[in-house]
Amino acid sequence: MKFCPKCGTLMILKNSIWTCPKCGYEEKGESSAVFVEKSENKNEITFIEESPEVLPIDQDISCPKCGNKGAYFWYMQTRAGDEAETRFYRCPKCGYTWREYD
Ligand SMILES: [Zn+2]
Ligand SMILES: [Zn+2]
Repeated sequence: MKFCPKCGTLMILKNSIWTCPKCGYEEKGESSAVFVEKSENKNEITFIEESPEVLPIDQDISCPKCGNKGAYFWYMQTRAGDEAETRFYRCPKCGYTWREYD
């Protein structure tokens, strides 16, 4: 519900544009589609796109693929709240990314 800022009349929403039936004032309505849930299907490993140089390195971890000692690590929530954060690693040498299983 929206009122005309000019004359105070209750405005009508037409094709996502608020129109005042009294003075003809128009205002673009905010699309509710902006709030579409996009957080589903997040069980896949999400790659961090930022430069990995900002990530800390765990020197005790070896890459399971190339055997390189030391890997970047970060934490990520894989499910909505009901699960502890999972630790992910990325090899700085070959770029292989894997998650730590308890
Ligand atoms: Zn008006
Ligand atoms: Zn590697």
